Amino acid sequence: MAKRDYYEVLGISKNATAVEIKKSYRKLALKYHPDKNPDDKEAEEKFKEAAEAYEVLSNPDKKAKYDQFGHAGMGGAGGFGGGGMNMDDIFSQFGDIFGGAGGFGGFSGFGGGGQRGRRVNRGSNIRVKVNMTLKDIVNGVEKKIKVKKYISCNTCDGSGAEGGSGFSTCDQCNGSGQVTRVTNTFLGQMQTASTCPKCGGDGKTITNKCNTCHGDGIVKDDETIELKIPAGVEGGMQLSVSGKGNMGARNGVPGDLIVLIEEEEHPELKRDGNNILYDMYISFADAILGTEATVPTVNGKAKIKIEPGTQGGKVLRLRNKGIPDVNGYRTGDQLVNINVWTPQNLNKEEKSAIEKMRGSKNFEPNPTDNDKGFFERMKDYFR
Ligand SMILES: [Zn+2]
Ligand SMILES: [Zn+2]
Repeated sequence: MAKRDYYEVLGISKNATAVEIKKSYRKLALKYHPDKNPDDKEAEEKFKEAAEAYEVLSNPDKKAKYDQFGHAGMGGAGGFGGGGMNMDDIFSQFGDIFGGAGGFGGFSGFGGGGQRGRRVNRGSNIRVKVNMTLKDIVNGVEKKIKVKKYISCNTCDGSGAEGGSGFSTCDQCNGSGQVTRVTNTFLGQMQTASTCPKCGGDGKTITNKCNTCHGDGIVKDDETIELKIPAGVEGGMQLSVSGKGNMGARNGVPGDLIVLIEEEEHPELKRDGNNILYDMYISFADAILGTEATVPTVNGKAKIKIEPGTQGGKVLRLRNKGIPDVNGYRTGDQLVNINVWTPQNLNKEEKSAIEKMRGSKNFEPNPTDNDKGFFERMKDYFR
């Protein structure tokens, strides 16, 4: 039977990156895994075919040969003379494919992998500060931030080994990834198994380190990360974006990105919990006669009605113009504190007009319950 093109087998283009190659193989391996397709010869063939394609395309040297000579180039050293790979070879390859994420859900039982107890390197967390304007806080915001961080090395696909294949069997555990220690106690001999300290449970050590990452499997690079910050956050809050931190060494798992929220002051508006406060001055005449005024809000201007006879110290409420609760239950209000501006520089004419009014009974303070004193107003304010 003529062999299918390896790229076709994995369903990828000739320009596929190492990561793409690995991804497609991982998908196929899961789909055709014998545990999932018991006694299915066709699935087994597909499983082997994909493994063989991956074995070649994941290895830069073999891939180059294959790209140049096709299947004919595979006949020589390290090739698969017709028989393809056997199952043991395939499973031993799985450590690289599925080991990193700390397990291969559902197929823990298969043999040959020797992955039990493998130490998984977790990358460190990255902390960033994000400045939020009051408008960002009211509306929620999407921000793109550039982070310098460790990512998986593309050259070796995160393995740390040259060409993804510069490994040799660990001489301390002979490839099992486990070491057993026998200790003599007064109860007799005790045997304990633990993860091999030399290879960290991999069962192999790197003999040829990747030139790009020097064996770490990770390299520093810039990544632009899109953050969705919900409305209602507060200065000092920390949001954690899981998996966006530094990649762990040699196909480890990434740490988290921790975002520390900082608040920027608004020039006119002040935050008070979920409410927004605005301190407003109206003229003496507007206070007496009433008017319609505009006040700034975070999302543009809003109109507000000043009733005739408005007292200084009155608090007007713009409902739902405040900050949504971060849990999404309610939205605060914008509270407008009214100050009546007492004129300080009147001309002669104005002064004499006021002079005439001073004696009027209607200019005498005469607060009623509707006007609410200071303490009542404060209660309202912090309701
Ligand atoms: Zn590398
Ligand atoms: Zn070892």
